[in-house]
Amino acid sequence: MSGIELYIHIPFCVKKCLYCDFLSGVFDEKMQRRYTAALCTEIKYLAATHPDCNISTIYVGGGTPSWLSEDLMDDIITTVKKSFKVSPLAEISVECNPGTLTAEKLNVYRSIGINRLSIGLQSANDDELKELGRIHDYNRFLHTYDLVRKAGFDNVNVDIMTGLPHQTIEKLEKTLSCVTMLRPEHISAYSLIIEKGTPFYEKYKFDAVKQQAGMETEDLPTDEESYHLYKYTMEYLEARGYKRYEISNYARNGKVCRHNIGYWDRVPYLGAGLGAASLFNNVRTSNISDIYKYVETSEAIASGKDISFDLSSPYFETEETLSKKDAMAEFMYLGLRKMEGINRADFYMMFGLDIEAIYGPVITALRNQGFMDAKEGRIFLTDIGIDISNQVLSKFLLD
Ligand code: SF4
Repeated sequence: MSGIELYIHIPFCVKKCLYCDFLSGVFDEKMQRRYTAALCTEIKYLAATHPDCNISTIYVGGGTPSWLSEDLMDDIITTVKKSFKVSPLAEISVECNPGTLTAEKLNVYRSIGINRLSIGLQSANDDELKELGRIHDYNRFLHTYDLVRKAGFDNVNVDIMTGLPHQTIEKLEKTLSCVTMLRPEHISAYSLIIEKGTPFYEKYKFDAVKQQAGMETEDLPTDEESYHLYKYTMEYLEARGYKRYEISNYARNGKVCRHNIGYWDRVPYLGAGLGAASLFNNVRTSNISDIYKYVETSEAIASGKDISFDLSSPYFETEETLSKKDAMAEFMYLGLRKMEGINRADFYMMFGLDIEAIYGPVITALRNQGFMDAKEGRIFLTDIGIDISNQVLSKFLLD
């Protein structure tokens, strides 16, 4: 099968940020080595159980993958390249955090074919970084960015966040101006979400409810202020040559993230590592989410022990075969996140049905309301449709 994507999860962080509910934690080097060995076993297992897959993109996410020592990253990428057919033009991205990269590490990254880095800045204001519980300050980010450029990386993303506690347009403007002056090829701008189970949830849960209800808030921006921050970000970035190609993603000179576009286009992908998700042959799965269980499973496989498992892989914790209706709904609400929307012909090719037969009334209603438009065989959300994308995209769910 051609054009498969591979996601690799590294669940280690130097320190847990106060808003983060990702599957990551603080573990020592011994566990990082044990986990990497387990991960390489899983990568080989995936390759053996998915023969003839050509990998078009690899995304090493986390966590903080850049915290791994360079020899471990080398082991991972080398194992992938030895186990799978990897396109010579593959996009190979690694998520990095300021303060976790060195010139030596970056040289190893280049030598093993990593060609895209994504750096988590979040804000150029040190008081906001402290509030978020990040390990870096803005100067540390600048030092990391400089190392990355000096090492020769020419495809770099910088992550920023909007909707932070006490964030004003002036503070956001400072972050946007600092980042755009550096001219990274790509900028991702995500809104802060207050997730259950995080210290931020305990601190801001009442404010988050008020925000959603459109009421006055104490620390978080109100719903209206959040909207202004989001709009300001979009206009600021577009005015400086960053084209929005997805709700939260901007690129200049066409340097979009091919891996993420694959997700929105429902390109099949395999996930390796703790909690990693896959979509393959219309089956959605997620891996074991307990790190000890994960490494023990892999170690048992590596030592050739017979292990019993209920799902179709010993690594899976969940497995769901999607119905045709589920797959069609996914195709719509993922594809419509992209500014260019979806192609009617692709829908027909994928499902053997005319899109109008399934979604004709929904599309007509949304077009009449000004939330959607169509051009040259494509259907896409308008600017006001994007502004309320959660509501609009939910219309594509099928009973
Ligand atoms: S560095 Fe990223 S993954 Fe790690 S705790 Fe912070 S936000 Fe979460």
